[in-house]
Amino acid sequence: MNYNTKVHPINLDFHGKVFEIFTFLVETSIGPIIIETGPHSSFENLVKGIEKCGYQKEDIKHVFLTHVHLDHGGGAWCWAELGAKIYVHPEGYRHIHNPEKLLASAKRIYGDMMDWLWGTLKPIPATHLQIVEDNEIIQIGDCEFKSIHSPGHAKHHTAWQLGNVLFTGDVAGVRIENGPILPPCPPPDIDIEMWEASINKCLEIKGVDTYYLTHGSKVEDIHYHMEKLKALLWAQANFIKPYFDSQTSINEIFKPFQKFIQEDLITQGVSEQDLPRYENANPTSSNIYGLMRYWKVKSELVK
Ligand SMILES: [Zn+2]
Repeated sequence: MNYNTKVHPINLDFHGKVFEIFTFLVETSIGPIIIETGPHSSFENLVKGIEKCGYQKEDIKHVFLTHVHLDHGGGAWCWAELGAKIYVHPEGYRHIHNPEKLLASAKRIYGDMMDWLWGTLKPIPATHLQIVEDNEIIQIGDCEFKSIHSPGHAKHHTAWQLGNVLFTGDVAGVRIENGPILPPCPPPDIDIEMWEASINKCLEIKGVDTYYLTHGSKVEDIHYHMEKLKALLWAQANFIKPYFDSQTSINEIFKPFQKFIQEDLITQGVSEQDLPRYENANPTSSNIYGLMRYWKVKSELVK
């Protein structure tokens, strides 16, 4: 069965269109469910999107998260307050059950911009959370959602399979309007080997021919897409490695690394004037911090 007809991508119109965040509403035989909530700050936009699909917010009883980064699961607590059950990776559970640490670190990073950008986080009671192990199947009406644990971008990452469709969260990276592919590498969990294994795991799932990316679009050239993503991850990690080895400051890395990223974007067909769009979608500094940390963690493992 082709499940694409059951899927309704909802663009959360997150502070304009520069950084696209989608929620996916899936119509099951017993009502709609959503995959991803986007951040708390996009809650009203998501409710409007659900209404456009012909449903009310109270109709959402099941929410599947790919991971608990603010742009994916930051709004989950609102849905729990409305009575929905939230399905989450075991490693993500504590971050949304007791989000104090997550909120404090986000406030450190975003400062005064936090509320406007992401909104806030509130604890989700255990009664509204369900931990999902790898390869677990959650049956909702006529739909079987299978969890595919897929760490590398985040330890607590799960892609969700529904028949021929895979909701990839960030394991398949970012791709706006079927344009160039971007590898989002924020700190602190980036692990390239693990991410590559997760990409291979996704590609090996039988019968899947369509990906829905939280940041971007429907992707059907899944093999090309994932191979390019793997190459990009290694290219960016290896570019950063000598800077890590020589303990170069982040400021000094920024320009050469941004140039390296932009050269690749141009070879993927992006025009000079569109480059800032992609910088917003996947900030250079975020990848520097994430990849420097990756090499640091790795170097400590070797010792
Ligand atoms: Zn993420």
